[in-house]
Amino acid sequence: RLISPVAVTPNEEAVERALRPKRLQDYVGQPRIREQLEIFITAARNRGEALDHVLLFGPPGLGKTTLAHIVAAEMGVGLRQTSGPVLERPGDLAALLTNLERNDVLFIDEIHRLSPVVEEILYPALEDFQIDIMIGEGPAARSIKLDLQPFTLVGATTRAGMLTNPLRDRFGIVARLEFYTADELTSIVARSAQLLGAHLEPDGAREIARRARGTPRIANRLLRRVRDYAEVKAGGRIDSAVADAALAMLEVDRAGFDMMDRKLLQAVIEKFGGGPVGVDNLAAAIGEERDTIEDVLEPYLIQQGFLQRTPRGRIATPAAWRHFGLARPGGSDE
Ligand code: ADP
Repeated sequence: RLISPVAVTPNEEAVERALRPKRLQDYVGQPRIREQLEIFITAARNRGEALDHVLLFGPPGLGKTTLAHIVAAEMGVGLRQTSGPVLERPGDLAALLTNLERNDVLFIDEIHRLSPVVEEILYPALEDFQIDIMIGEGPAARSIKLDLQPFTLVGATTRAGMLTNPLRDRFGIVARLEFYTADELTSIVARSAQLLGAHLEPDGAREIARRARGTPRIANRLLRRVRDYAEVKAGGRIDSAVADAALAMLEVDRAGFDMMDRKLLQAVIEKFGGGPVGVDNLAAAIGEERDTIEDVLEPYLIQQGFLQRTPRGRIATPAAWRHFGLARPGGSDE
């Protein structure tokens, strides 16, 4: 899966880490978030305080983890990383929290998947840097209060709407990551090519950027696959023609859609007459999880104007019909 939401192999994870910008000034795009963070971080650092808690939301691969690491680096503090589903019991979170040093960053990915009992522990920790933990069981059980060092929670989620209100309210800084423009992705792949020692021409960078679903992780992934192709077929040089041939082989079409994108759009058009179709019916029709549709596939198709979300379900837009060379029944657009 080219657009798989996470790094799929240990090797890919290592490459991702190597390509990750380490400082705010190397973080391409998201200008509003960068500007805000720069001000808040500078102010907190000058006062010697922990940065306010930060909630980052947006589709996978847009740079949430990268930003969490950058926040810690810019604050000059340590970072501990975990994720919602990993924290099964209150004790798991308590252990992490009590080990934090002054002003450290705790990064919790998929924070919307925290279990309610773990979330309970988090509230007083976020508000007063204190936790209440239960010692013992049955009639002998008692609760003790522990003081924590001040710290910054950076939470990441694909959809802010999936957070409970009390949790969302405890973040002082809330930032929504946007899809990247082709220009921004062009400079990201150019930088990655340099780090990987790949011979990438400007027009090759542009072609990869255009077809990367607005997502840095996908851009970097495509770059590596295109580089393989170029090394075997074109003496290693990646220009737009080589990129185009490689992407065609990978079944990434001219709009940057991969097989799953096309499967989804085609299902809406061919099986449901263009919609509206409910997301559960759609999930069943294409054999994909509802969450994957909502978190990974849909956001980009909607942003690009190929799909519309309405109260009655998903609708394929005229642009989607055109993409497949199909005429919309009764469609009188253009
Ligand atoms: P998320 O946590 O949102 O899923 P990541 O932070 O893991 O995304 O980003 C995935 C990859 O994309 C990283 O390895 C990094 O190399 C690259 N990346 C993300 N955002 C940027 C950016 N703004 N500038 C440069 N590279 C980026």
